[in-house]
Amino acid sequence: MLEEATSVSAIVFDLDGTLYTNAELLAEIERTAELLVARGRGVSPQAARRTMNRARRRIADLEGREPTLSRVCMELGIELRDLHRTFEEMVRPEQYLVYDPVLQALLEGLREQCPLYLYTNNNLPLTQKILALLGIENLFERLFTIEYAWRPKPDPEVLEMVLGEIGGPPDEVLFVGDRDQVDLEPARDRGLPTLLVSETADLLQVHKLLGLLP
Ligand SMILES: [Mg+2]
Repeated sequence: MLEEATSVSAIVFDLDGTLYTNAELLAEIERTAELLVARGRGVSPQAARRTMNRARRRIADLEGREPTLSRVCMELGIELRDLHRTFEEMVRPEQYLVYDPVLQALLEGLREQCPLYLYTNNNLPLTQKILALLGIENLFERLFTIEYAWRPKPDPEVLEMVLGEIGGPPDEVLFVGDRDQVDLEPARDRGLPTLLVSETADLLQVHKLLGLLP
């Protein structure tokens, strides 16, 4: 949760589900992963989907949290690099995403206050494409994509590396994301202020925190 009077010297954003929400794009990513699992096991995409759902439930029971898609695919023997190569080939964000002037204005306002960073389980080519489609490709100081460590969130060690690159006290780095256990829990554990969002309008909360709004 946001604390009053927090001094923020940098903001780290998740990408998917945080800076945009799009059910169709999400479904295309999911379908692509299913195709890869299907190909690897020589089964139909429907059978692959059932296998993935079972794996998802199994990991959720075991770890007490809903696993990410990366985690499910890794559990089923898919190499993370293969998964992302396939995403890069098959996922077409340009079919679903359009320029978002409100998001652009919100982030431009924030960037006047402090540097903005992106930390996402998505890969660099798709991330760059998505940012360009939304009209926010030049607003980030640095993009931490899956290529940074080839270890998906949640991962406290990689978070630590990211914080090291950003510099400054962690309690001044605001982490904004749409999944509590994936994005915010590790950040919170490390003493970062966090903000859970479910739509672009929620990003106005960041402006409130920084005193940019009444
Ligand atoms: Mg997300």
